[in-house]
Amino acid sequence: MTETARGHVWIAGAGPGDPGLATVACMRALAAADSVLYDALASEELLRAAPAGCELVYVGKRAARHAMTQREIGAEIVRRALAGQRVVRLKGGDPFVFGRGGEEALACRAAGIAYTIIPGVTSAIAAAAYAGIPVTHRGMSASLGVVTGRTRVDGGEPGDDAASSRPGTLVVLMGVEGLAATLRGLMDEGWPPATPAACVQWGTTPRQRHVVATLETLAEAVAKAGLGAPAVMVIGETAALADELAWFEPGPLAGKRVVVTRARAQASELAARLAALGAEVVEAPVLSVRHTPEGLTTDERVGSRWDWIVFTSANGVAAFFEALNGAGRDARALGTTKVAAVGGATAEALRARGVIADFEPARATGAVLAEELPRVQGARILLPVSSLTDDRMAGALRRRGGLVEQVAIYETVPAPLDEARREAVLAADAVLFASGSAARFLRAALGEAALAPPARLVAMGPESAEATRAAFGRVDVEAAEPSLDALVTATVKALSWDS
Ligand code: SAH
Repeated sequence: MTETARGHVWIAGAGPGDPGLATVACMRALAAADSVLYDALASEELLRAAPAGCELVYVGKRAARHAMTQREIGAEIVRRALAGQRVVRLKGGDPFVFGRGGEEALACRAAGIAYTIIPGVTSAIAAAAYAGIPVTHRGMSASLGVVTGRTRVDGGEPGDDAASSRPGTLVVLMGVEGLAATLRGLMDEGWPPATPAACVQWGTTPRQRHVVATLETLAEAVAKAGLGAPAVMVIGETAALADELAWFEPGPLAGKRVVVTRARAQASELAARLAALGAEVVEAPVLSVRHTPEGLTTDERVGSRWDWIVFTSANGVAAFFEALNGAGRDARALGTTKVAAVGGATAEALRARGVIADFEPARATGAVLAEELPRVQGARILLPVSSLTDDRMAGALRRRGGLVEQVAIYETVPAPLDEARREAVLAADAVLFASGSAARFLRAALGEAALAPPARLVAMGPESAEATRAAFGRVDVEAAEPSLDALVTATVKALSWDS
């Protein structure tokens, strides 16, 4: 990598969706980026490879957000590189296969900016492969054409090369919308109507689905199966091999709509895990978390020496560390203080801040912790909790001789649900509750409307389950313990009953 004052641009292919299909070169470029300009990729997981502080800029088309024009994207790349940044322009599949990467390279060239092209695994070949279709095959197809279905939709001429010398296998990208016209056009050009033809949607992702038919019947088969963009069409003898060679299993949540009711700031990790299993995730944050560190900072309690600090939620951990940092301290201020965590998610939040919990109760409830916590007699114990936490745990610890101070360092407040999300929640296959307040606030946001079966209600831990039961009259599956892993497992279990 040459250092230049002008910065450098990497025009990189992210691959077709499966993060495992990104190249080593792409991952290296991401790891060194100052900014990443990315499209609507099938997988946003790759963006996590970018370093902290790297700017992630979405420049693609997505509902409700204004898309940048190609000219604007080119100008933005150049502007950043001229400011000395290392810019990664990350594109789905391969940047030079219907990716307009060539135009972006020309923009760099015109501005005198050095660039590197990182090819990617194109969906044209990979989506077919994941459906068990080899694009060439000895004795069946010895050539490959890749065309766009947009030409016909846009009213232009069909792909000339495809028409004049017909390839053994023809792959059509961006072809779902104009599919019937494309297929008719191919038959008019002399392709036999009985030619095998397949459509692969969301290839290489947990949402992958495909159908195999013929040129004559594919449009109907696609409509019947409800397939839509993004999809590739594979036309030619080898398409029929999908019936024998299809191998890829979509995720256990494929085709399921799952609602996440957590506060926006916490939803993304859970949403990413569910999406990785194929779910269509609807984020419906019915609550937001407000830190109230004043209770700890005003009288220096954050710094005083405690024998135990007992954390009961990831929010409590975040608010506590905010108070600590606000007082100019960090994890070292804990010194010899022992730390206890109720629940895997809480322990995880501590670990992320460099603290390993000294104690976790066998079952993740405040009651069990109050019974099991060692060395309580005479110990000074801090409980940084939510404003909604009652005093049962504090009371039980006091009865064991602990000197307990419970401080409310965050509060959860209801967040409004817009009409579109409300509809999405009511049409969900599963709704996840990671806290009692999420259940109570969703109940309030829905008004009279019922969350009727077959929608599954999944609760993370006993406290959420209790509140969900009170609010909706039932809980279908309760996570074995209050952790994200257990919640995801419970969701898969809840939705595997359907089929
Ligand atoms: N540069 C990309 C193609 C961009 S054009 C590449 O090399 O793959 C966008 C089209 O690519 C979509 O309309 C669809 O036809 C296809 N496509 C992209 N990702 C896909 C996927 N995961 N499964 C099926 N088709 C996909």
